[in-house]
Amino acid sequence: MRRPSQQYAFLVAEKNRDTTAITTGRNGARALASDIATSTTWSSSGLDETHNEAVAGRRSKLYSRYTNPTVRQFETAIAELEGAEDALAFGSGMGALASVVFALCSPGDHIVAQQQLYGGTIAFLNGPVRRMGINVTFVDATIPGAFTAAAKTPRTMLVIAETPANPALALADLAELGAIAVPFTVVDSTFATPMSQQPLAHGVNLSLHSATKGIGGHNDALLGVIAGEAELIDAIWAYSVLHGATASPYDAHNALRGIRTLPVRHERQCASAMQLATWYEQQAKCNKVYYPGLASHPQHELAARQMSSFGSVFAIDIPGGIDACRTFISALQLVRPATSLGGPETLICHPATSTHFGLDEESLSGALASDGLMRISVGLEHVDDLRHDFAQAFAAIKL
Ligand code: PLP
Repeated sequence: MRRPSQQYAFLVAEKNRDTTAITTGRNGARALASDIATSTTWSSSGLDETHNEAVAGRRSKLYSRYTNPTVRQFETAIAELEGAEDALAFGSGMGALASVVFALCSPGDHIVAQQQLYGGTIAFLNGPVRRMGINVTFVDATIPGAFTAAAKTPRTMLVIAETPANPALALADLAELGAIAVPFTVVDSTFATPMSQQPLAHGVNLSLHSATKGIGGHNDALLGVIAGEAELIDAIWAYSVLHGATASPYDAHNALRGIRTLPVRHERQCASAMQLATWYEQQAKCNKVYYPGLASHPQHELAARQMSSFGSVFAIDIPGGIDACRTFISALQLVRPATSLGGPETLICHPATSTHFGLDEESLSGALASDGLMRISVGLEHVDDLRHDFAQAFAAIKL
């Protein structure tokens, strides 16, 4: 694990993560904003120098699919925020996941995956992964010991979890995941961001993010990232240069800028999410609210154990199914219908018809994407204005 930087030795214990977000990823540069290294390739003095760069692997200055200085700054920042030895960026969260799976698994291997996952991840595991002859077992992450019990086949290579999970905020127990005796464990920590939880501190091998979400934080960067031990990250890098889901320096620059304000954005968004989730619990036209910060969340105790804040996303279930959701979403004036999360604008989506659309009935119900479920990503608007918007949208529903 990475030790606190010597440069900040005056800080008694470990640097506070809020401060890390400001100091990290600068790689000695004096400029306060990162430069965007746009070149896709670097010239050399001749054949021998180009050859030396070619064999230098990830440390080379050869070609931007291998490494790029701006992307590297972003990776350094994520490694420090995650308490990891190293990190590796990709062109999207799905690019990160696909590279991890295909770097680590071969035909005949077995993956244990949580059934409550982002729809794209479920579709990827059921489609391309199974087609490559890799077996997948889905488990209910809310059942203690379910991952461990399913991970006992001789060919179990990888356990994939997502906590809190898209769309209905189910949690996986990080301590259980960290203790499973399989070669590799990966946790998609997108909903938490590095501000809320640290999967690696629990013994998990890789923490994965769609940095498109809260880390980038402004809906202007499509990016994925993994963090973990240097040796494992290097091995995945060797595969990833062939897979080619390469991160763009423009997006890395935007995400680095996002990281500077991540702690304050996240704090405000978590506070508003908590207030709104609490308000929703009191609404007659709401069946259920899913937010790990609520005492009513069935895994609230686990959330309190492994998260330092509960995130900016919650979900609600309303009576009346898709029709009621359509009416509610159409009536909103401030909150926008869109499928991403973690940005400054509050967004709402109906997972069964968007992020999880196309999945079979079993996968949909396993992921908790019911007809009446809507996912809300809380942004940076004033919480009173959001509450008023939601209240007037409820008034449009006639039960
Ligand atoms: N993981 C989670 C939890 C997500 O919500 C998403 C996208 O919504 C992804 C991964 C995929 O990320 P990307 O859209 O950056 O490929």
